[in-house]
Amino acid sequence: MSHLPLPPVTRKLGESGLEISSIAWGMWRLAEGGRSAKEAAALVHAALDAGITLLDTADIYGFDGTSGFGDAEALLGEVLAAEPALRARMVLATKGGILPPLPYDQSTAYLNKAIDDSLRRLKTESIDLWQVHRPDILTHPQEVARALEDAVAAGKIRTLGVSNFTIHQITALQHFLSQKLVTTQPEVSPLRITCFENGELDQAMTMGLVPLAWSPLGGGRLASPVSERDRAVAAALDVVAQEQDVSRTVAAYSWLMAHPAGIVPIIGSQQADRINEGVRALHVNWTRENWYAVLVAARGERLP
Ligand code: NAP
Repeated sequence: MSHLPLPPVTRKLGESGLEISSIAWGMWRLAEGGRSAKEAAALVHAALDAGITLLDTADIYGFDGTSGFGDAEALLGEVLAAEPALRARMVLATKGGILPPLPYDQSTAYLNKAIDDSLRRLKTESIDLWQVHRPDILTHPQEVARALEDAVAAGKIRTLGVSNFTIHQITALQHFLSQKLVTTQPEVSPLRITCFENGELDQAMTMGLVPLAWSPLGGGRLASPVSERDRAVAAALDVVAQEQDVSRTVAAYSWLMAHPAGIVPIIGSQQADRINEGVRALHVNWTRENWYAVLVAARGERLP
């Protein structure tokens, strides 16, 4: 039986000239447990040495409900300050637009401040990919577009992306932007399959957006399935994992990467060996039969 095409090693971020690895590493959990800058540096090295060049963070990572806003960025900033040469090896992505206790704020004043604060914490002169973390219903997309374009013109950020936006919100923001959005970051995993059928990935393909998949293991649930559905999805992934001698985790990343939209899973692990192992997903082969078996297990019912 023939296989679906393997993913390329790198992908282009639109027409920006930036290229990223087909698998990313995320730092949502970097500041958890009082990790030192030395320990954080070891993880950054693990990702870069494995060939992972897209490193994803956000200003809110580290926030525990009461404090810690900015901590993950600040920790990465310490790593970069100690070893400035690392900066050129990565495509640095961050996000903003959420400042508790307010749900979302994308007013010009707030965006300007959020971007400046991220630059300061990250100890870098510019951010390669700046993403609106979640849509602010109360700011007109024209205002968001203008603030972001001004930040690009000032050299503070290079490319733009969104996260958790609906299809219409993406269309509206793009309408007011003179430069193209390059990424969208929805939650996608073998346990979260809505974007396969709701048009989000079709829009990404139409607009040339790279879809960055957050929580590609369902926040770790695929590694330790809890429900009957989790177990069914895990079993369908295990068929390919066992056949090709990889872990279920790697099979899960590769299942996402087999989609024609060119999904880039963001590895969430903060363990060097697991980050390193993740890139094996570049070499896992999927037949249509095996791929659809995972989808059907996730749907919980046959396709029509
Ligand atoms: P995930 O890969 O679904 O889950 C990672 C979690 O699973 C970690 O706590 C990890 O623990 C655990 N895990 C257990 N067994 C594992 C195994 N065998 N291999 C790998 N991990 C295992 O991803 P996520 O952390 O939820 O999210 C990934 C990234 O997506 C984040 O870092 C962030 O960049 C992005 N994100 C974005 C949004 C958004 O709104 N845009 C929201 C959430 C996340 P260990 O660390 O101990 O390995």
